[in-house]
Amino acid sequence: MKNANKYILLAAIAGIIIGLVIKKFPDSLILQYVSDISILAGQIFITTLKMILVPLVFFSIVNGISNLASSNKAGTIWRSTLLYFAGTMFFAVFIAMIAMNLFKPGIGVSIDAWQLNEVVTSEALSFKDFIYQFILGLFENPFASLANGKILPLIIFSILIGIALNEKNKALNSARDFFKSFYEIIFKIVNWIMYIAPFGIFGLLVNMVVSQNITIFSQVGIFMLIVIGVILFHGIIFLPTLLFIFNRVNILSLWKGGRVSFISAFATSSSSATLPITLKASQNNFGASKDVSNFVLPIGATMNMDGTAMYEAAAALFIANLVGLDLGLSQQFVLFFIAMIASIGAPGIPSAGMVTMAMVLQVLGLPLEALGILIPMDRLLDTFRTTVNVEGDLVGTLIIDKLVKD
Ligand code: ASP
Repeated sequence: MKNANKYILLAAIAGIIIGLVIKKFPDSLILQYVSDISILAGQIFITTLKMILVPLVFFSIVNGISNLASSNKAGTIWRSTLLYFAGTMFFAVFIAMIAMNLFKPGIGVSIDAWQLNEVVTSEALSFKDFIYQFILGLFENPFASLANGKILPLIIFSILIGIALNEKNKALNSARDFFKSFYEIIFKIVNWIMYIAPFGIFGLLVNMVVSQNITIFSQVGIFMLIVIGVILFHGIIFLPTLLFIFNRVNILSLWKGGRVSFISAFATSSSSATLPITLKASQNNFGASKDVSNFVLPIGATMNMDGTAMYEAAAALFIANLVGLDLGLSQQFVLFFIAMIASIGAPGIPSAGMVTMAMVLQVLGLPLEALGILIPMDRLLDTFRTTVNVEGDLVGTLIIDKLVKD
């Protein structure tokens, strides 16, 4: 995935240029071939992503939850960790969605080249009926949801298997190993797909430029500014305020003690790669106990991703605006929920949020072709969201450590 990143930007630029040339000379036969091949390349990329999405969601959730079994931590640490993760992520997604609803980037552009899929909720329903249907829709024969790519019931089933595997029973070891190995296999395939990503992105962008006017690119700029703005708000205002309230540690001390891991997160775009640095910073610079940091930080690096959750919610609203779909209250409720799950499901590696973004789009019935404009800008946005992901883990460790010591 990492190697593909540098080619993706080149492919995106090439796609836009070739798209503009084709638009200028619509009668050229050669350019018509190029256009046809581009459409095919884009579609192959999208279809392979659709192929891997369902098994990826299934194995990553089962594996992630069954891994929690290895911990013997006391109830207080457990409970406060989960409460902190859920609470901060809740706030993060809320802020991102408010900002997107206020500024509405992408409204009025309307990309006709993208197909809308079957939308998960009907706006004709009252909120009460919607909640009723939503809850019933969470449970389904898992084989039917696997076959039909129904993500929500699949997530619920995966969570149940993960919880069942948490039981400390030796007989379950081989099942846990099975899910772990399969997760590795699926991830290998994701990496292969990422090798063809530059061709896919090229094709999708050629197709988009040919069939679209260029105003979309200024909207992309506004969207990026909003995402960076809300992520900075979370990282500079919200998390430091929380730390100050609980620990009386101010933002300057947070920066001084945590800057090595923040800079590493920014540079690597990987919470997991930054984990050893964050562990050291929490223990050496802030005096956090090994017991708490060795528990909270590794789980946080894979599950607690405020920046990713903010991005996923904002990106889905942006794409909905681009296709002219006005997501109502019930659909935004689903988005709220699914953006959090998508960020929990994303591993702490570069651009992981992009793979789970496909899941968010699928659940809302939004076109996966939209990844063609999201992926090229991801390198930059990933740096910001990873930094806030890591900051959230560090702040959580310090708060929980304080709670346990008091
Ligand atoms: N790169 C992020 C991380 O490692 C995950 C993502 O949002 O892509 O925290």
